[in-house]
Amino acid sequence: DIFATLEYGPAPEADGEVRAWLAAKAPFGHVIDGAQAVGDGFKTHNPATGEVLAEVSQGTAADVDAAVKAARRAQPEWAALSGHQRARHLYALARQVQKHARALAVLETLDTGKPIRESRDIDLPLVARHFYYHAGMAQLMAENLPGREAIGVCGQIIPWNFPLLMLAWKVAPALAMGNTVVLKPAEQTPLTALMFAELAQAAGLPKGVLNIVTGDGTTGAALVAHPDVDKIAFTGSTTVGRAIREATAGTGKALTLELGGKSPYIVFDDADIDSAVEGLVDAIWFNGGQVCCAGARLLVHEAIADRFHDKLKARMDGLRMGDPLDKCIDVGSLIAASDCARVAALVEQTEGEVYQAGPVPQTGAFYPPTLITGLHSSDPLMQEEIFGPVLVSTTFRTPVEAVQLANNTRYGLAASLWTENVNLALDLAPKLEAGIIWVNATNLMDAAAGFGGTKESGFGREGGWAGLRAYTKPVGDAKKLPALHIPTGEMAAAG
Ligand code: NAD
Repeated sequence: DIFATLEYGPAPEADGEVRAWLAAKAPFGHVIDGAQAVGDGFKTHNPATGEVLAEVSQGTAADVDAAVKAARRAQPEWAALSGHQRARHLYALARQVQKHARALAVLETLDTGKPIRESRDIDLPLVARHFYYHAGMAQLMAENLPGREAIGVCGQIIPWNFPLLMLAWKVAPALAMGNTVVLKPAEQTPLTALMFAELAQAAGLPKGVLNIVTGDGTTGAALVAHPDVDKIAFTGSTTVGRAIREATAGTGKALTLELGGKSPYIVFDDADIDSAVEGLVDAIWFNGGQVCCAGARLLVHEAIADRFHDKLKARMDGLRMGDPLDKCIDVGSLIAASDCARVAALVEQTEGEVYQAGPVPQTGAFYPPTLITGLHSSDPLMQEEIFGPVLVSTTFRTPVEAVQLANNTRYGLAASLWTENVNLALDLAPKLEAGIIWVNATNLMDAAAGFGGTKESGFGREGGWAGLRAYTKPVGDAKKLPALHIPTGEMAAAG
């Protein structure tokens, strides 16, 4: 692709820049109140090679407490800024992201193993878009969300599959609405959040407004349990989401959960098959299938099933797997070698017919794009989220059966519907139990559109007005106060 070559050039210069930054900055500390706080560390790896990238601090309850206190101190002043003033800060963050997009994309690819084409062309532009959009919304908030104000201090916990994008989805609306933040990145992928924090400092974001505490699930649990956090926003697995809901029940903390999925990809016999195949490649092999809204369950009309599978297999054979920093690569590595073993074990146990693309690189956490056909809808692989590059497929005969199969899941994040019959699409779309429905499309996301699930995929929306509202509360709603410990005598004296 000559234009791509001319426009972007090879990755190595940015690679060198990023490695120099890593060497200069490691070991990394938390970013609390605008300062580094280095603690006992753990290592983050490049899953495509196994190389150690950097040592990062493991956040303790004391680190979380310091970060929450910093966020609490900074919040009144941040909320008191006019929407216009906060917008200036968010525009500055958006510009920093654009200016350093190459370095951020390379760092993201090193830490996650995702193809540079994805981090460079999809993740980073969307990250910038989220900050630009929410800068605009900060200005508009007063007139469009009258009677609402910031919630206060937000604890945000994010997964490893889209580290910087998940940061943007959470940080941009929270700051736009006047909240301050303590963010905990996933332990596998903390680096772009740390680079972002440095850029935020350079852009003049007041200290304490955005604090980053790195660490594993225990750090996340400490953030959830902290009594002075007003809201928890979580993206991750349904299991952890459930634990967080239990931990926050009865505490008065606001909560939004973006959890797992097993989204159906429904192809009718009148669909534009070539487009549907292309869409499916994106739906299931984008980021190696490690996508919450991945179109992981193919439901294809039985009249076209064989033809559709044949075309899909031919397309799978054309997918290039390998060094994620190579811009010609379609499929990178999974997040960890242990994930390859987990996915392999699931595939080995299937009674369906397995088709896999190759060749697979011999080192690193690579698992091939996989198609499993001939499964019954009750098969465990049709029900469980695999979170890897594995597509499962079954057939249907009628629209009613398609809807039944699509909804036969405990999840409800997304659904994709392919037909040339607009009446059929308009009839079926509202019957699908999912937060996001795409017709003749997949993976369309934008800062202006609410994203989120139903059923065991969680609740709440990120993006759009609904996403902004989730970072506000009615003006004058009692601020959550620390528990009162008034001795009985004093209470009586107070009347
Ligand atoms: P995970 O739930 O294991 O971890 C997510 C985050 O939670 C990490 O930062 C982790 O350290 C933290 N964590 C772990 N235990 C915790 C606890 N007890 N209390 C507080 N925090 C804790 O998920 P993962 O494996 O990193 O990500 C994969 C999952 O995320 C998949 O199920 C996927 O579907 C889901 N996901 C959902 C969305 C969405 O928008 N719905 C987006 C991306 C990923």
